[in-house]
Amino acid sequence: MCCRVVESVGEGVHEVAVGDSVIPTFVSDCGECDGCISQKSNICTKLPFKITPYMPRYDQGTRFTSLNGETIYHTMCVSSFSEYTVVDVAHVTKVDPSISPSRACLLSCGISTGVGAAWKIANVEEGSTVVIFGLGSIGIAVAEGARLRGAARIIGVDLNSKKFEMGKMFGVTDFVNGGECGDKSVSQVFFLTYTMIV
Ligand SMILES: [Zn+2]
Repeated sequence: MCCRVVESVGEGVHEVAVGDSVIPTFVSDCGECDGCISQKSNICTKLPFKITPYMPRYDQGTRFTSLNGETIYHTMCVSSFSEYTVVDVAHVTKVDPSISPSRACLLSCGISTGVGAAWKIANVEEGSTVVIFGLGSIGIAVAEGARLRGAARIIGVDLNSKKFEMGKMFGVTDFVNGGECGDKSVSQVFFLTYTMIV
């Protein structure tokens, strides 16, 4: 995803204004339905997530055309691989403009997904051992979430050993290269976990 600046708003839009820094999110927040109001869910039932080439409400049309007038379709409700885009206000979140766009963009997907998985879904407990399969941006964010929750040991599993160096910066304490363990990668993880428990 990315961090953008609002250039214009449609009629009746009050949630954001011209000049606001926003990040587009493909998971919507209409702010009205039971799912959005609930403190236990962020699943909007009014505008449920779906992969669609159209704007998700109103006329279900597109807002883009090529210079030749050909229809260009939307993607994931945000169409963020472009210099300018048109987004339903339910798919943007306002952010503090003092946050660098190169940092704020991380909040849109990878960081919130990974930290949220450790913090809210797994509910990592202090002193626990966490195993993360895949140390990409989301896996790294899981490590950060586990670290913030006080995990004592965070085992990263990846095919690229260089990921361990990056992982250490976010709390990964041990590393298993699944590509170097043959069929023993899982038992290697269990070994590390076991040695922690005893
Ligand atoms: Zn909603």
